Parts: sequence; structure tokens; C-alpha cells
Amino acid sequence: MKLTKSVRLNKLLEEMSIYDAYDVVYYLPYKYLDLTPSEKINFNDKEKVVLLGTIVSKIDVVKPHKITISKFDLLVKDKIYHITAFNRPYLDKSFAISDVVTILGSYNQEYNYINLINIKKGSLENESKYVSLYHLSKDYPNHLFSGLVKRSLNSLQGKIYDDIPYYLINHHHLIKKYDALYKVHFPSSKEDIKEGLKYLKYEEALKFVLKTLLIKNENAKLTKYKKEPIDIDICKDFINLLPFKLTDEQYKVSKEIIADMNKNTLMYRLLQGDVGSGKTIVSFLCLYANNLRGDQGVLMAPTDALARQHFENANKIFNHLNIRVELLTGQTNKTKRKAILDDLKDGLIDILIGTHALFSKDVIYSKLGLCVIDEQHRFGVNQRHLLASKGEDCDILMMSATPIPRSLALSIYGDLDISSIHQLPFQNKKIITRIVKSDDKKIFDGIDYMLKNNRQVYVIVPLIDYESENDFSIDTISAKYLLKYPNNVAILHGKLKNNEKEEALAKFYNHEVSILVSTLVVEVGIDVKNASFMVIYNASNFGLASLHQLRGRIGRDGYPSYCFLTYDGDDKDELNKLNVLVKSFDGFYIAEEDLKMRGPGELNGLRQSGDTDFKYLNLYNDIKIFQIARNDALTILKKYQEGDKNVSYIINKCQKEIKYEKFIKS
Ligand code: ADP
Ligand code: MG
Repeated sequence: MKLTKSVRLNKLLEEMSIYDAYDVVYYLPYKYLDLTPSEKINFNDKEKVVLLGTIVSKIDVVKPHKITISKFDLLVKDKIYHITAFNRPYLDKSFAISDVVTILGSYNQEYNYINLINIKKGSLENESKYVSLYHLSKDYPNHLFSGLVKRSLNSLQGKIYDDIPYYLINHHHLIKKYDALYKVHFPSSKEDIKEGLKYLKYEEALKFVLKTLLIKNENAKLTKYKKEPIDIDICKDFINLLPFKLTDEQYKVSKEIIADMNKNTLMYRLLQGDVGSGKTIVSFLCLYANNLRGDQGVLMAPTDALARQHFENANKIFNHLNIRVELLTGQTNKTKRKAILDDLKDGLIDILIGTHALFSKDVIYSKLGLCVIDEQHRFGVNQRHLLASKGEDCDILMMSATPIPRSLALSIYGDLDISSIHQLPFQNKKIITRIVKSDDKKIFDGIDYMLKNNRQVYVIVPLIDYESENDFSIDTISAKYLLKYPNNVAILHGKLKNNEKEEALAKFYNHEVSILVSTLVVEVGIDVKNASFMVIYNASNFGLASLHQLRGRIGRDGYPSYCFLTYDGDDKDELNKLNVLVKSFDGFYIAEEDLKMRGPGELNGLRQSGDTDFKYLNLYNDIKIFQIARNDALTILKKYQEGDKNVSYIINKCQKEIKYEKFIKS
């Protein structure tokens, strides 16, 4: 059955991977607007305001250029407020003079009006005081999605089961899962959101840890066939070809990894290090060592663009060593793909680089020995299963650019082995980071200076945020830059089609344009050495770890580089947070500070960026939950081994999900 009557909306839902009522109810809001009326009557510039009042003028609509501007006056007690709404062509059809309405807006001091963000008829009941906002395609109105959520929840009554064993539900004072979902979508208080998220996050953590443990137990039974022992010293040919000297840390972790590859148990190791710490070369070195012992290797990247970049870099070295490297992504054409698959099966390809396509059913390796997975946090934990059909003897190296202090990593990933790089190749030439106001002249001065020196610039804006923060939306900012730097700007955001994204990236990558205006998309491993300036608008909207990741995109060739974080407010905590970045460049330290400031275990909303594979959990925020879940998961396993029936439901469910994930990914 289709979810809505509209063909167009159904198509949009499919694009969001939403196919049935379950998908709808598990698609949670990323943010809530609180529509409790303000007590205040005077406001500061840009302050968010909620007013309950009566419309006392005709709604006046003008259409200069391509935008619609609607204006009306609102009477609240005995004060009149001027309201302005941009691009709401139907406002005057839905509302009229003498309507009582609740509005949310932001105050514009210069012109003394309120910029409308949300409007509702009447004074609001408890439940609808919170408007849930969803990340949706531009053409899918938020209120329609909200209606769909309500219908879906109603249709699923009695059909949503608790996976968590009852003794744990009682122990942690959790509500039922159905109620948790309901409260998260339609809260009537902050408490509701907290309670709902508490269930969903805990369940996600518990199942994640449980699955990891189940997989790990299974893996422990596997052993490798005996391979030729290797040593980093025989990789000299490779090392000599590098245009630079390996840092001590790169050398150290390479040794660690190779020693692990020599063991007769399978390697399952995480290599973590800051953005720009040079993990790629380490992985190439290990792929080389793996090749020397006669095995094939793969390198999997999360995006086509990144896979291509790795492929180009790999060729620069491996071409000289008579090692054949190929690229396989979803975009590889049929003929090429067939040729690659044939050669791969015959063992004629040494190293294959690509995306998830590397693990399609029809991809058969002759002798896969090492699998490297870049930007690990995008993939989840079941890589071992992903690989099971490709060669049981395969070592796995995962690379993550979200450094997490060891103790934290252990609570999340269990007994995973970890290698860490703590040093950057260009440590002596630090990036200078500054906090500035968004209209500070220094921003454009800096950019002009960089452009004059033929350098490149990143401009980062917060996530596209449906119906708020108009000043910093990707549209507003990119218009500003296009106007000032015509023909020199590429624009990149999540709502572009894949080929449009690739095109924008390629333009910047090949230096056809000097400026890339982008949302967080750019966070994933892009390496443009010539970039030496970055502005991040509304920086406090991002987490510290994300900001640090972003900043790592510049200064990659040692050229003196600048990162400007804009912040227009005066909140001490926000400033302190941003100041951590001004002072430090150590990802591990920043991660710890981030953690301290957020206060672990806090449930203050959903994660904002796509920086992990978790739906509800935030790696940094929710570390406490992971720790609790880990203890509980260990007990569950113990009970299971003792034959306790109370835990068999969740175990079966996890085992099924492991199989299912394996199935859908292959
Ligand atoms: P990440 O760890 O973020 O994946 P990369 O592997 O992309 O980092 O490396 C970042 C940049 O640093 C690349 O351009 C790479 O060529 C360069 N690089 C790596 N190791 C060194 C080194 N030892 N000396 C100088 N430059 C290096
Ligand atoms: Mg990388």
C-alpha cells in the first residue's frame, strides 16, 4: 500500500528510503520548535520569539523578483507587532484578519519586524506546543510529514514490540517502545522527548553491542591458513617511492598492523588518527605488504568521489611497482565492470578500490587477504559478515577520522584492536583559527588575499534547515558568494543529485573554481592540498569534533592557513566551546573536551550530522549509554549460555538482524 495518495510525495518518500509505516515512525525529528508564548514584550536582534495574538490587518502580499513577501500586523495584549513572511505564497489563503494565531519568528531589529518561521491557528494544546522538524526534501512540507507520522503511528498500534528484555525495562525504568516513539514525535514536554529518546538510544546501543559480541564470538572460531610472514623492512621499495618521509607515528602503526597481519588469527583492527594524519598511506603500505605475501587487497571508501581520489593516489605509487590497481564503483560502466570482475576472479588484479559495489554478490575474489575500510564510522560493525562470502581469511583494517579516546572506543567497540596516529605531517605549521562575527570584513579580506595567491577556499554553512535560520541557509550564503565571486564558486549540499555533487566537487578539485560553498557533506575525506582558507558560518551549530574534522581539510601542504569560525551571539558556553579549537589542534584532546562540555549521558536532542552509523546515538554524547549497554549485553550473553529463556527473544532478533544486514549488503 502506498503511504500517501500523492504520486509525487510517494516518490519523495522513496528517495528518503521510506517505504512503509515502520520507516515513517522510525524517521525521527532532528529538532523541535517550542511554541510556548514568550513572556517578554521587547526583543533583541535575531532573538527567537513566540507570540499568541490576533491578526489585525489584511495580509498584504507582494512579489518582487521571484520571491513572495507577505506582511500583516499581530495584536498581542495591547501591543502591535509587524510580521513578515518570505516565500509563503499561500499564507493569505489560510489565514485572515481576526484569526487568533500562535507564531514563531525571529526579531529583526534594524527594520523592526518579526521574520515568520512557523504559524499555527489558535492557542495551542499541550501536545502541539512542540513542532517536530524533520529533515525532508524541500518539496515535502513539514506539516504533511507530521500528519503522515500520526497516521502511521495509529496504524501500528499493538504492532511495535519491545526488543529489550523485561527485566532490563524495569531496571532502567523505561517506557514501552510504542510510547517512546509517540513521545518523540509528538511531545507535550521536554520530559517526553527525554523519556522517548532514552528508550530508543538504549535499545540501539544494547543491540549494537550485543551484535558486536555475537559476531566476535563467531570470529574467534575462525583461523587463517598459514601465510608468508612479512616485515615492514621488505616494504622499502614502496617507502622509497613516497614523495615524503613517513612520520614516526605512521611508521609505528604500520609496524603494529603488519605484526597483526602475521598472526594466525584474523585481524580486526581500527586505525584512528586526525584528519590529515596520513592514514591513507599507511593503508597503502599494508596493502603492499599484503600483496607481497601473495594476496589480493581491497580498499572501500564511503563515496564515489573519495574512492576515485584513493584510486588516483594509489596508482601514482603502485604503477611503479608493477602492481595492478582497479576502481569499481556504482558508476563503473557495464563493459568495464565485467572485465574487472573476470580479471579479479582470475587473480589478475592486485588491489581493488571502490565503494560498497566491491561487495556485490557477483564480485568474486581469487584470494582476498586484506580489506581496508576508510571512514569506518559510515559503515557499522558488520563488515566481517559483509566479507564472509568473499574469503574467510581476510584481515580487516578500519580507518576512522573521529578520534576517540581509547577507553571510549573500548566501551563502544568492545575488544577491537586499536592503532592511533597522534601526529600530523605538518605539525609545525599550524592552522590559525579565529572566532569572528559573520559580517566581519576580515572574512572577505582573507579570501581575497588567498585568491590573489592562487589558493582555494572552503565556505561551510550549517545543515539545510527547513524553515529557519534563513540568514545562513546554503541558498543565502551561496548567493552572497556567487555575487561577489562570479564564476568562481561551486556549490555542494545533500539535496543535490549525485552527479551534481560529483560535478561540484570535481570543479573544486581540479581548481576550475577557487571557492566551494558546502554543507557538512564535505566532511568526508576530501583532499585538496591547495585549500588554505575556511569560513564556517554559525560555527556553534556544529559539534567540536565535526568542526575539527572540517578544519582538517585545509593546510594540507603546509601553506599558512586560516580557519574563521563565525558566531554572532555572546553566550559564554558557546564561546568557550569554540575557543577549544582556537587553542588546540589535537583531535584526541578536542574529543575529550567535547565530551566534558556536553556532559555524558545527556539526552538533549538527536545528533545533527551524519557522522556515525547510529540512528539515534551520538558517539560523544551518549558514551554513558554505551557503557551501560555493554554491561547489560555481557549479562544477557551469560544468561543465554545458561539457558535463560528471558533473553532468547533479543538474541534471536539480533542474530536475525546480523543475517539480514549481511543479506542486504551483498
Ligand atoms: P587522513 O588521515 O585524513 O586520511 P590523508 O591520508 O588523506 O589523511 O593524508 C593527508 C595528506 O597528507 C595527503 O595529502 C598525504 O599525501 C599527505 N601526507 C601523508 N603522510 C605524509 C607525510 N609523512 N609527510 C607529508 N605529507 C604526508
Ligand atoms: Mg582519509
